[in-house]
Amino acid sequence: MHEFLLIERFFKSITHHRQDVIFGIGDDAACLHVASDHVLLVSTDTLVADVHFLSDWDAYDIAYRAVMVNVSDMVAMAAFPCWITLALTLPKADIAWLERFSTGLQDALQRFNIALVGGDTTKGPLSITLTIQGQVLQGKAVRRGTAKPGDIIYVSGDLGAAALAIACLQRTDLDPNDRAILMKKLQRPEPRIDLVPILQQFATAAIDISDGLGADLQHICTLSGVGACLEWAHIPIHPLVKKYQGTQAVDFSLNGGDDYEICFTVSPLHQQAFLACLDEKGLCCTAIGIIESTTGLRALTEERILTTYHPLGYRHFN
Ligand code: ADP
Ligand code: MG
Repeated sequence: MHEFLLIERFFKSITHHRQDVIFGIGDDAACLHVASDHVLLVSTDTLVADVHFLSDWDAYDIAYRAVMVNVSDMVAMAAFPCWITLALTLPKADIAWLERFSTGLQDALQRFNIALVGGDTTKGPLSITLTIQGQVLQGKAVRRGTAKPGDIIYVSGDLGAAALAIACLQRTDLDPNDRAILMKKLQRPEPRIDLVPILQQFATAAIDISDGLGADLQHICTLSGVGACLEWAHIPIHPLVKKYQGTQAVDFSLNGGDDYEICFTVSPLHQQAFLACLDEKGLCCTAIGIIESTTGLRALTEERILTTYHPLGYRHFN
């Protein structure tokens, strides 16, 4: 099956459509309608075989995860995702693999109301690059570099399960139920689209913590020209991370990546209204520390000892 048949059968056939796509797959470029008063946000993420996923994973999960990773970047900006393009490099045209990939893609796009509007298909080592585009009302996008001293630091969800899944890939002594829970966290991350309206209303800065909470909070601090003090005992940890990492659980959760949760800051002046809004929507976020004017990261341990904290986020070429 050559390139054009493959595009026709597995990508042009994806049935999730949006009204604001004037035309999509088939021309040299897609033509999209951006809503008035809104701005366009664009972000790209590449997933490389055996770096970001294992080649022998179900192609459904590979596609699903690729979309979710990109959706999470839109959420972190407080934007709603709308359109996506897919640059797919494949070692061969494996029909069964492409069926699964296309189904995973379709389900993920449907779930978040995203239209696939174009892409590129090439032969080579397996890699998937998605470019996602989203919209947000002008002036409402939330950035990394705008946290202020005194702001309270929040994180959504609980941390460390996806990193534990990676750490446990080779282990055979894991309870099979636990393994299934961990693999689901890794392969089917749930980006926090439910937080978008709250972030638009209350966040002074935000980031998605795909590289690990410690490293990603450091990005907020560096770009905002501030520092942070974390309450060690308040870091929300996934119960299985506590079970398998014991006394290392907090460190592990702060350094482990692939949690598609959001770390954000809220002004103390708006904290009451923010908490009331969370409550009303039945959402849970945890206050984990405070932004300070002194640069660098610090942690207040469970014994109330103040220590300097150096995160170890994931870095390519390290
Ligand atoms: P060009 O030669 O101009 O780069 P292509 O032949 O690569 O165009 O692609 C033809 C059409 O199919 C374009 O509209 C392109 O956006 C779309 N397309 C190619 N690959 C994919 C893909 N993997 N997923 C979605 N659309 C794709
Ligand atoms: Mg092309």
